[in-house]
Amino acid sequence: MQQDIQVTIVGSSNVDITALMARLPGPGETVLADSYQLSPGGKGANQALAAQLAGAATEFIGAVGNDSHSAIALGQLEDAGVKLDRVARTEQPTGVAIIQVDSAAENSIAVISGANSTVTAQAVQAAGAIEGILVLQGEIPASGIKAAMDGATQRIVLNLAPVIELDREYLLKANPLVVNEHEAALILQQLDGSETMSTEAEPVIAQKLMAHGLASLVITLGANGCLVAEQGSGIQQLPAVKVKAVDTTGAGDAFTGAVAARLANGDDLVQAAEFAGKFAALTVQAHGAQASYPRSLQNL
Ligand code: AMP
Repeated sequence: MQQDIQVTIVGSSNVDITALMARLPGPGETVLADSYQLSPGGKGANQALAAQLAGAATEFIGAVGNDSHSAIALGQLEDAGVKLDRVARTEQPTGVAIIQVDSAAENSIAVISGANSTVTAQAVQAAGAIEGILVLQGEIPASGIKAAMDGATQRIVLNLAPVIELDREYLLKANPLVVNEHEAALILQQLDGSETMSTEAEPVIAQKLMAHGLASLVITLGANGCLVAEQGSGIQQLPAVKVKAVDTTGAGDAFTGAVAARLANGDDLVQAAEFAGKFAALTVQAHGAQASYPRSLQNL
């Protein structure tokens, strides 16, 4: 018998096409690249894989095209046992990120949303009931995010990355909102209706976001760990695990997926964030996003 779904991710899946080159081309210029690779990505798919590998029975709801890229986009999720029955096949192509990286690790990225842009309210409602903890990001249309929230029966983990316009009442459904420091400042600006972005220290930004009525908040701080805030119990800073980072791509997604998985297994938010910090620290020690996610929890 199939296990009950503990975490549902409604979000994006992409294929990343990464070309490695000595220097990035200027406008109108052609540069010969040294090599390229195709790898699965998209915040939704990354987080779904992380949640499953972190120990939660996970479903991914999203959309891919009727093209050869779809197998790459979903391959790791399928191998890990993520439920994919409700991933739609659309006329639009599988989402693609075209990434150019130079020898100093500087990059330029073009994202073609493709099928991800079809994950609208209509598509989410057509998919049916959402089971377990719901996890959302900012790479699908706001209407799809809101419809998923309306259908959620358990707590909602909202990783509003990238930051898109979302009505206040929906932002405040997040429990927790998980964002990095830059996104936190942007969301505060949105909630304050301010012309400028706050340059205050992260704990101040966290306090101000919480004052808007969020139930809980996690601000990730890269090698500095994260801040965890919950209504009624203040703000706590959790340090990161000290490791030698070689590639932090997808670390935030690993963290968010792992938080959701641990919440679904009964941890409180601080315990979940502690676990997620260890999980994400493993991923920064290997190259790639999904490729770097730990296939075993033995070292955690
Ligand atoms: P970020 O999205 O860069 O803020 O990273 C998300 C989470 O991944 C952080 O809160 C840390 O737990 C972990 N992390 C990211 N970078 C590092 C690093 N260099 N060393 C250890 N942990 C890291």
